[in-house]
Amino acid sequence: WPAVEFHDVRFAYRRGKREERTQVLDGVSFSVPTRGLTAVVGPSGAGKTTMFQLIERFYPVDGGLVRLGGRDIEALPLDTVRALVGYVQQDSAAMRGTIRENLTYANPHAGDAAIREAVEMAGLTSVIAQLPRGLDTELGDQGSGLSGGQRQRLCIARTLLQQPAVMLLDEATSNLDSDSERDFREVLRRVSRHCAVIAIAHRISTVIDADQIVVMEAGRVRATGVHQDLMERD
Ligand code: ADP
Ligand code: ADP
Repeated sequence: WPAVEFHDVRFAYRRGKREERTQVLDGVSFSVPTRGLTAVVGPSGAGKTTMFQLIERFYPVDGGLVRLGGRDIEALPLDTVRALVGYVQQDSAAMRGTIRENLTYANPHAGDAAIREAVEMAGLTSVIAQLPRGLDTELGDQGSGLSGGQRQRLCIARTLLQQPAVMLLDEATSNLDSDSERDFREVLRRVSRHCAVIAIAHRISTVIDADQIVVMEAGRVRATGVHQDLMERD
């Protein structure tokens, strides 16, 4: 079964008591395989974040069907959905305490082997080894002990500890230098060999590397394909 399927999904936010509605997803269909990188692109307001939130079952759909691993998301226990889907939370204001505490924030019982594996996959092993107290180094205010790119990869490692089947990542708001960009690119490739990665892509490198690109516009999927196909089409 694909990791995620949308079949003709319709969704509108309700506003106020009169249930005035704004159609946000208007018949969206696509399928995400169990491994690989799917890049979602499209202008602001296209419905990308809403699509993520439906994969997390924040809201029920108004029409159509969302499936996780072949099963109707609305028939799955919410705990199962939470275990299957990992959203990479990138709120650096929440970064306090040690690196270990940050990594295990949502998974306090994670063992050392699992932590090491997540850190390795996120390309942070040598970074952490160079810190005075390793995993027990205090991050400082808003994670100031690490560079922007390293903080972003720490957020990925944190989500990896959940061992999700689907990782959701919004690339918004991060300007990386070319070394960090290359590291990030490698991490996404590596992680996508272990689970389905869906990235709201703001980086051209992610779009180029993607195994599938979903182009959204005004609540619809305008095209899907790999970079080469889409270049030829326009
Ligand atoms: P994108 O991530 O592609 O920028 P969004 O999914 O955030 O798009 O938004 C799609 C549309 O839904 C926009 O018109 C936005 O204003 C609207 N929207 C998003 N969140 C809400 C909400 N909580 N309540 C009402 N409308 C919303
Ligand atoms: P900001 O304050 O910069 O908007 P947020 O963390 O509140 O930062 O949200 C950034 C974007 O990510 C918003 O569009 C928000 O809707 C989205 N977002 C936040 N948490 C989740 C989540 N768990 N799943 C999907 N999207 C999310």
